[in-house]
Amino acid sequence: MALIVQKYGGSSVADVEKVKSVARRVAAATAGNQLIVVVSAMGKTTDSLIGLANQVVPAPDPREMDMLLATGEQVTIALLAMALQGLGLRARSFTGAQAGLRTDDAHTKARITQITAERVRRALDAGEIVVVAGFQGVSDADEITTLGRGGSDLTAVALAAAVKADVCEIYTDVDGVYTADPNIVPEAKKLDRISYDEMLEMASLGAKVLQSRSVEFAKKYGVPVHVRSTFKSDPGTLVTREDPNMEAVVVTGIAHDRGQAKVTIRGVPDRPGIAAQVFGTVSDHGIVVDMIVQNVSRDGLSDISFTVPRGDRPTVVATLEDVATKIGAESVTYDDRIAKVSIVGVGMRSHSGVAARMFRALSREGVNIHMISTSEIAVSCVIEDKYVELAVRALHDTFELAV
Ligand code: ADP
Ligand code: ASP
Ligand code: MG
Repeated sequence: MALIVQKYGGSSVADVEKVKSVARRVAAATAGNQLIVVVSAMGKTTDSLIGLANQVVPAPDPREMDMLLATGEQVTIALLAMALQGLGLRARSFTGAQAGLRTDDAHTKARITQITAERVRRALDAGEIVVVAGFQGVSDADEITTLGRGGSDLTAVALAAAVKADVCEIYTDVDGVYTADPNIVPEAKKLDRISYDEMLEMASLGAKVLQSRSVEFAKKYGVPVHVRSTFKSDPGTLVTREDPNMEAVVVTGIAHDRGQAKVTIRGVPDRPGIAAQVFGTVSDHGIVVDMIVQNVSRDGLSDISFTVPRGDRPTVVATLEDVATKIGAESVTYDDRIAKVSIVGVGMRSHSGVAARMFRALSREGVNIHMISTSEIAVSCVIEDKYVELAVRALHDTFELAV
């Protein structure tokens, strides 16, 4: 008997018919197995709830935001449990708190601190199918929290680790992890396997097929993750430990991210302590900075540019305007029309000239590079947003990922 965690994303449970069809798929997997099913909010519910909050106030209180957002998943768990019961199966739904998913108190981006999963285990032992609300948890102060966008993936992986499940299956609207977003590159190829490290880079560089923190968690606890289609029964992509054959491929995939903004502080006095002051202020707001570039100084002044999640850009600009005045900088400017394209592959560790090939491919298309960053297994460029699809396709071609 296997213990399986299945997670169904928003588009897989977008309406009642889809919820019923997920119930049938779950039912088919129950034969001889124990099942935990994690679900997201239906369709675009989370986006709609955020829209509602923003109509009420421009910057909603994060605690109330979590109170609101957590309702989305609660609708789905109840409907799915009903649908399973309608098929004659024993099923019981649990909120994140009831499933024992404890988090810190960082509302809207909480981190998991502990999972007790006692009620989950008891229900499984009693022969019930356990249905759990993704994306939500509870803090030590008994406040409802959420785990950041895409957080149901993390709920599924974390529960799989806590109950030592045999596999964590992520069911979604594509049939696996592709060499690039198949909605942008139609000839992208489905990967049979991808290493945790490559998947982590792909996810953190924008491939939203898995939430990056869920991959981090899966790697840490060695949870085998299988990404596959809700609507087809074909095998999908196994996210797993690296094996020696994986290094033979230089570039495994192309990722892109349209969710960032670039902020620049111009005319910054070039003296020790300035960067610490600027980035200290940003991190005091809990905002994560991605790429940073400081220009060579001229006449004792330099420019510092960096990227942040676009949703955080207004806060960053507002707070840095104060800092700029204090440190005697000239101005703070920003650009929301940027995108990041990246190439990812463990093979880059042992091959040289990969970054240069990437830059040549972009230049052939006339795409100007604004910022560059590298890691051991990835190279990223910030470019103008309007060129992002062109850039992804050009890189997919250059690294011959379709063949
Ligand atoms: P869910 O609602 O099931 O969580 P998401 O929308 O979060 O689904 O993730 C699935 C989407 O991820 C796909 O529809 C696809 O557009 C996008 N995506 C981006 N990069 C990739 C990739 N490399 N492989 C597969 N899908 C990708
Ligand atoms: N419903 C949440 C979101 O849209 C969590 C998830 O779908 O994973 O971000
Ligand atoms: Mg998702």
